[in-house]
Amino acid sequence: MCLFCDIVEGKIPSTKVFENDKVLAFKDINPATPVHVLIVPKKHFDDILDMASSEEGKEALGDVLDAVPEVVKATGIDEGFRIINNCREFGGQTVKHVHFHILGGVKLSEKMI
Ligand code: 5GP
Ligand code: ZN
Repeated sequence: MCLFCDIVEGKIPSTKVFENDKVLAFKDINPATPVHVLIVPKKHFDDILDMASSEEGKEALGDVLDAVPEVVKATGIDEGFRIINNCREFGGQTVKHVHFHILGGVKLSEKMI
């Protein structure tokens, strides 16, 4: 069982920001910034290293990239934003379906952490 697969399949509700046949973007349940969206490929990959290990994964990464301007348009964060991918235990990844945090809606610190 995978939480984000369940969200993609609609078994668990989410607030959708953008969707096409390859990716889903939805609001984070515990937002860190005024705009906090998660972009996930609909196909399950555990993490970004998993994506990088196949042609299918690399294509899916391109699909995620295509969704970025759509999320920007939908949320009005064209003044700027930050994309974060937490990878594996030491990277702080808690949900093991690869996802990209889009953080914005406020001027973020120039310090990353
Ligand atoms: P990670 O720590 O794995 O990079 O990020 C997981 C993110 O998923 C967290 O920011 C957390 O708030 C979010 N999250 C966890 N469970 C749910 C959920 O059921 N729905 C939504 N929309 N976000 C969730
Ligand atoms: Zn999954």
